[in-house]
Amino acid sequence: MKHKSIVIIMLVILITITTACAGNKPLNELPVIDEPKHEQSAESSESQESPELPHEQEHDDENKLTDADNDEAVPEILLPPETDSNGIIIAIDPGHQRNGNYTQERIGPGASHTKPMVSSGTTGVATKIPEYEFTLEISLQLRDELISRGYEVFMIRETHDVDISNSTRAEMAAESGASVFIRIHANGSNDSSVNGILTISPTSHTPFIPALYSRSRALSQCVLDGMIETTGAKNRGIWETDTMTGINWSKIPVTIVELGFMTNPDEDRLMQTPEYQQKLVEGMANGIDFFFIFEFGD
Ligand SMILES: [Zn+2]
Repeated sequence: MKHKSIVIIMLVILITITTACAGNKPLNELPVIDEPKHEQSAESSESQESPELPHEQEHDDENKLTDADNDEAVPEILLPPETDSNGIIIAIDPGHQRNGNYTQERIGPGASHTKPMVSSGTTGVATKIPEYEFTLEISLQLRDELISRGYEVFMIRETHDVDISNSTRAEMAAESGASVFIRIHANGSNDSSVNGILTISPTSHTPFIPALYSRSRALSQCVLDGMIETTGAKNRGIWETDTMTGINWSKIPVTIVELGFMTNPDEDRLMQTPEYQQKLVEGMANGIDFFFIFEFGD
């Protein structure tokens, strides 16, 4: 039966990820990971071109009776179409936009330090694809994947021609009623050999969102673990920092995903293949699933 299969699948996912994704460790005992180098522009950005149309994802159609049902001689009944909606809203922020906005904004509530509202992202060194295009492409795929898993999704942007500051993105995410805020970025480095995936969370002593630290850290861990599992990419760990405007203004658990380094020619090319993009998206979705199993589980 469908429910049995779902339970089995969830158990398998749980067993696979549980060890890594905070499942059996108190949050404050999660492994501390060295701060990786990051383009100083997880917040920055630029732009061009129009986004792909999202492809519709088919739902499994399992409105058939199983053998077990037939054994019970169940009369033919029409089951309602399965919507599988779980009522959880995920906010996705495809990092950057076509044109950066270099007006300054405070990096967090009460902060004196400022950064550009949205600065320019990086560019694929081999593919020449700009980061803002790649982040939207992956975000649209993630949206479809999450919807197929029963989530509702709020997109901060679905085109490149927007002008939305990082603090406004955080406000929009909270106002959407979302439970978590997933910010999608790709990385850059002066060293073209640097590669791999990392996620970013606030620090344990964040002056901006202390109440959100533990859950943001857990979300960052779950999503990172999910992606490492599906992609086999180098695990660059979780970078804890209080310098990201779109994290500091958040009102819900938040993580930045750095999908890989567009400054590494091999990783840049790999990230533009449909097969690898599918792994990235599946990994993120698995991590989000596990975050909620962890949150709501017994
Ligand atoms: Zn970025």
